[in-house]
Amino acid sequence: MPTNYEKLIERVNELDDLNKAAALLSWDREVNMPRAGAPARIAQMTTMSSLIHRMSTADEMGELIENAAAELDGAPYESNQAALIRLLRRNYADARKLPAEYVARSSAVSGQAREAWVRARAENDFEHFRPWLEQVVELCQEMADYYGYEDERYDALLDKYETNMKTAEVRAIFDALKAELIPLREAIDAGRVKLDDSIVHRAYDVEKQKAFARYIAKAIGYDFERGHLGTVVHPFATSFSRNDARITTRWYPDFLNPSLFGTLHECGHAMYEQGTHPDLARTPLARGTSLGIHESQSRMMENIVGRSRGFWQAHFPTLQSYFPEALGDNTAEDFYQAINKTQPSLIRVEADELTYNFHIILRFELEQAMLNGELAVADLPVAWNDKMQSLIGITPPNDAEGCLQDVHWSRPGFGYFPTYALGNLYGTQFYETAVAHNPAIAGELAAGKTDALLAWLRENIHQHGKKFTPGELVQRVTGQPLSHEAFMRYARAKFGELYQLN
Ligand code: ZN
Repeated sequence: MPTNYEKLIERVNELDDLNKAAALLSWDREVNMPRAGAPARIAQMTTMSSLIHRMSTADEMGELIENAAAELDGAPYESNQAALIRLLRRNYADARKLPAEYVARSSAVSGQAREAWVRARAENDFEHFRPWLEQVVELCQEMADYYGYEDERYDALLDKYETNMKTAEVRAIFDALKAELIPLREAIDAGRVKLDDSIVHRAYDVEKQKAFARYIAKAIGYDFERGHLGTVVHPFATSFSRNDARITTRWYPDFLNPSLFGTLHECGHAMYEQGTHPDLARTPLARGTSLGIHESQSRMMENIVGRSRGFWQAHFPTLQSYFPEALGDNTAEDFYQAINKTQPSLIRVEADELTYNFHIILRFELEQAMLNGELAVADLPVAWNDKMQSLIGITPPNDAEGCLQDVHWSRPGFGYFPTYALGNLYGTQFYETAVAHNPAIAGELAAGKTDALLAWLRENIHQHGKKFTPGELVQRVTGQPLSHEAFMRYARAKFGELYQLN
């Protein structure tokens, strides 16, 4: 007779297989599928997701979880079994809170809102998107009320991306970050040093970019035996098991950064999933802890590693050998300065490492105001421009480059944006701890190597998958809750030196 836990695991494995098969349909749609395949693919994906939803919300699933939990009573908190029960209980309860009618309506509105957003942005016509955004805000309010919350409505949504994190905690961290980051940005703007990034805007042959992307991905430890690099319009990473974690990139013939830093970023995500413990396979534990922790791994590879001086002193000669015409006359130091130029800019996805955080804080504050009914959607463009001016020091000339720039608000996903900036903060706090534990990590990085760093990440973060909440993980690993302090130490040291602020 199988135990209750074995019965549960059998169902969990089946569901995980279905989820991964659904993810593969989605990956294939972005990377390989001919456009004519879209209608059939949408039908296939809809069938898969309703099958998965039915299985995961069935009464039987609840019984399997509770029978196994009773049998395991007393299993240590850190054990895989106890962690799995905690996660399954949570997912099961959440999935049953949203009525089927709501899910269907939300998905229909999102589909139409996205179409409206595409047109509104192309035509710089906020009024065209406004009624859809009003519906999206209402969907977010409804969702928050279905999930429930104790303190603030936004908590209910944030919790879906950063388990157990409270809005008040994020607000306090972002306020402290703003208080120190705004003066740093102003000092850089007012300073006499201006960095030149024209060399990254030269002609870069796309086939050579592809070859160099593979070189640099291997250099930071991405395992191509268990990975794959594909081409897409909007890059992402996805995994079907720890032995098949894929990345995607886009290529511009006249701009090196998107493919280079996009590859390093997605590698950070995929290396996280390649590093989950084999014992967690075919369960929902074999994933990143949260979106914010996931983003800490991608930002670390993109910025802390990929935009460091030592890394390019080691790898610039190779880059130069791929692109002798673009970079033949330049030094590693020229390149280091070009990729670290910071300046106020309008578009989030093009923002540099430092000012990126302001773009997120702005969205975090506006989402709360809309959710709480303090800001009418009709007043969003003005509120957006005011905040851009106070945080970044510039005002968008139009809404297409202002509040219409992101696709995110065409679906009820409030609470997602903050995870991008939280990732920057987690990443620096983890990196500082890693170097404190093993000073060789900094020495290796200065020589262009990441073996010791990757070993530390595997041991302290990757192997645990989703066993802990982000708050538990950051406390375990760094001995402290998340704060802005490590990021500010990193930012002051790096940009203070680059911009000669002292
Ligand atoms: Zn990312």
